[in-house]
Amino acid sequence: MNKVTEVFGSMVFNEEVMRERLSETCYKGWKSCIAEGKSLPLNIANEMASAMKAWAIEKGATHYTHWFQPMTGVTAEKHESFISPIPGGRVLMHFSGKELVRGEPDASSFPSGGLRATFEARGYTAWDPTSFAFIKDGSLCIPTVFCSYGGHALDKKTPLLRSIDELSRQAVRIMRLFGDTEVSKVTCQVGPEQEYFLIDKSVYEKREDLVITGRTLFGAKSPKGQELDDHYYGSIKPRVAAYMAELDEELWKLGVLAKTKHNEVAPAQHELAPIYTDANTACDQNQLTMEMMKRVAGRHGMVCLLHEKPFAGVNGSGKHNNYSLSTDTGKNLFKPGSTPSQNARFLLFLAAFIKGVDDYQELLRCTVATAGNDHRLGGHEAPPAVISIFLGDELTAVVESIIQGTEYVEHGKKSLAIGVDVLPAIPQDNTDRNRTSPLAFTGNKFEFRMLGSSQSVAGPNIALNTIMAEELQQFADALEGAEDFNAALQSLIRETLRDHQRIIFNGNGYEDSWLEEAERRGLANLPSAVDALKIYACQKHVDLFTKHGIYTAEEFRARSAIHRENYCKVISIEAATMVDMVKRDIYPAVCTFMGRVAGTLAAKRAALADVPCVPEEKLLRRLSELSEKMMDACWQLEQDLAAVPTGDPMEVAHYYRYTVFADMEALRGFADELETITASDCWPLPSYSDLLFSVK
Ligand code: ADP
Ligand code: MG
Repeated sequence: MNKVTEVFGSMVFNEEVMRERLSETCYKGWKSCIAEGKSLPLNIANEMASAMKAWAIEKGATHYTHWFQPMTGVTAEKHESFISPIPGGRVLMHFSGKELVRGEPDASSFPSGGLRATFEARGYTAWDPTSFAFIKDGSLCIPTVFCSYGGHALDKKTPLLRSIDELSRQAVRIMRLFGDTEVSKVTCQVGPEQEYFLIDKSVYEKREDLVITGRTLFGAKSPKGQELDDHYYGSIKPRVAAYMAELDEELWKLGVLAKTKHNEVAPAQHELAPIYTDANTACDQNQLTMEMMKRVAGRHGMVCLLHEKPFAGVNGSGKHNNYSLSTDTGKNLFKPGSTPSQNARFLLFLAAFIKGVDDYQELLRCTVATAGNDHRLGGHEAPPAVISIFLGDELTAVVESIIQGTEYVEHGKKSLAIGVDVLPAIPQDNTDRNRTSPLAFTGNKFEFRMLGSSQSVAGPNIALNTIMAEELQQFADALEGAEDFNAALQSLIRETLRDHQRIIFNGNGYEDSWLEEAERRGLANLPSAVDALKIYACQKHVDLFTKHGIYTAEEFRARSAIHRENYCKVISIEAATMVDMVKRDIYPAVCTFMGRVAGTLAAKRAALADVPCVPEEKLLRRLSELSEKMMDACWQLEQDLAAVPTGDPMEVAHYYRYTVFADMEALRGFADELETITASDCWPLPSYSDLLFSVK
């Protein structure tokens, strides 16, 4: 591999390249546009475009594309070549400021959730000058926002940027109250840990379910799954190591700070974590990471599965969204400080977070509600669907002492008054930290663990930012008018912690007793995506987003509609794939095997008239019985799929969950049992063992 320091960011038109290649006026102009959140004047855009073009061509690029994040959750690009004809049948490489700052893709085929009638097909994309352009596959990619001509945001980036700004505005107000006059911006920092599976391409291609839906719709349990825990942090196989090395290099070229990689709990499961960065960049980079993971796997004869639950019975894949707030002066506001005043500030931000999560538990749950994630949440591996916060013993003791106004005793010495005393040391790496908690404080950040592995991190971070902005605004409003700031602060923190203590839970989230306890505490339990999507666009959530200018009511309702449509589509495709596989692959295979057993039975009877043919008869009967049940279940599914109600979209989603999905489960049960009694050379699909241990 080339030297990492040379490779890193070599395909990014980053600040250093800008400083080298732009005139001072242009560079400074760009900087101030970013600082003030303004759009680029044309002369600056023109110089920028021309420098970008020259740089990109030197790196071998021939095309450019506006790279954006429509509401599908994946990225979109439309490549245009730089060429422009000149007399004499020749071409010139051309790229103007106008083309840099604005593009007009045909928007009609992207989901709009009703925001844009298809006759108004065109939307526009506009460069987000806070994100650097980069080269991927010979194209200069320009990260952009995507809007309709009516001005509605049609993407995930626009509301994320709005939420980042709003959170900053409110957080700066709080900083001023603490006498900080230097901070001008507070930015949320995000480090998304990405889980994935790697399997060999040859087995993947033999599974229609994996190819079409990204997960196995059938498959009996493998004799060996993750019971031995021998994969977790185990040594990495050479083929996987080669893949990871190439993936790192590709990501480094794109300026992604890929840092940690290790094996996960399930066989064939791995994780990649980047070093955290601002939420906007982290979101772009996580999209790029997922794309590169798939692409590089292809080069190694493997397939990268990003689905939340590719295999039943083994751990699914999630994405841990590590979240903190940092000032432009380099302070992490979720870091317990070493002075009384820093601690008072920390406790205020902590209180805001706790209150926000308690006030908007349902909203957070909704941001991770997808068909794929339904297989994880509430299962015995991932966080439960009930939202709670893990604080750890030390911080919980602090919170309790504040609520009760008692002395905080640490190793028999300390008491605690906000703004007067220092906090006890809160260990950053809590060794016994709770893996079952959906939202855990891990020393200087919160880790939101409910995200599905394939989803964009934009939605959950938009919600976190907006919730924080809302609570900080309430706090700032209350404190700015206070006569005695310190007294007001003391009681604000104390009352907030007291009123929202119910959301704190340090115990085991997998235990059934927790669900009962959560119910007693009045916490929301929305076990399935459908339960969550029913209330996603409720008035409370619409009010929150519109108040802070993150979404208009229409924009937000559109997102909720897209979530719901997507849920129905996913289940519908999975169901149709199952029917197809059963009728065309599984049932014929079972018939072949039954023929073989029947043949053996007849031959044995003829040869040994006096010997009872117990195993053959038993097996044949069982095969026949199960295949009849399987076909009945298959026809039932087919029938129910043909009878999906029209009308109320929520009713449709409900039908998919409780009728279609229930049919699918029943069908799978019979097919999986048949797999266990059918000769492996007859079974048409690679088994779970073949899949999970396919990468040697
Ligand atoms: P673990 O698996 O033990 O949680 P990892 O190192 O795999 O730890 O991932 C932790 C993630 O949290 C990394 O992406 C890291 O950069 C990120 N992170 C660390 N500190 C912060 C912070 N202050 N704000 C946001 N993310 C952070
Ligand atoms: Mg983690």
